[in-house]
Amino acid sequence: MPVSKTDFMRGLQCEKMLWLDAHAPQYKIIPPEIQAKLDAGNDFGDKAMGIFGAYVETTAYKQDGRLDFAKMLATTQECIEKKENVICEAAFTWYGNYCAADLLKRDGEGYAIYEVKNAPTPRKEFITDLGFQRLILRKSDVFITSSFLILPAVDNQTEGELYENGDDKYRIVDVTKAAKVMERVAEKRIFELGKLKRKDAPLPLLDVGEQCEAPYRCWYYEYCHGKQEQLKKGE
Ligand code: SF4
Repeated sequence: MPVSKTDFMRGLQCEKMLWLDAHAPQYKIIPPEIQAKLDAGNDFGDKAMGIFGAYVETTAYKQDGRLDFAKMLATTQECIEKKENVICEAAFTWYGNYCAADLLKRDGEGYAIYEVKNAPTPRKEFITDLGFQRLILRKSDVFITSSFLILPAVDNQTEGELYENGDDKYRIVDVTKAAKVMERVAEKRIFELGKLKRKDAPLPLLDVGEQCEAPYRCWYYEYCHGKQEQLKKGE
């Protein structure tokens, strides 16, 4: 089964989490404060699209409100052929595995890839995210020149380069080397993680542990920490 960038990230944190996403998502509980953080991240991402000036955004929706990924793929392809300077939410697929890159910026004969994160410092999971994207883009014949994180500029943060766009200030951190390492990890694990989504895939026999809280508290925490019966009964 194909995996998305989110599937890949979740499967790397815990294979059982990815299995539950595919087979029993009804047990997922997203705490309101986490949902608020996710929403704030989306707003920051929308704002950062204009960081390098004019851009083409490929995001498209179907009539039912879901993302129209086929249309996004087609628009991205057109943009690449036209050598557009900045493409936002650029969509790619390889054997059904797919991702949308926050921002691609033309760089010579290729593109630099930028991941936007509303966090003060780079984190390992952001690099994993970029590694997955690099794999899908490379397999889609896009020449990737480098990989960056776009973070909000905050006091006492000196990593990366300060970049100002009007009143907005960002930090742009070059993580090319680390992202290349994660690209190789993604290539090794992508198909094995995809198997967890198959209808007949058995539930991975994993004990609860550190992965339940890091890098994010798992949305199945209650389910796996002894509340399965109450959740099944809807209590
Ligand atoms: S609570 Fe822990 S064991 Fe259960 S799915 Fe989440 S990370 Fe995995």
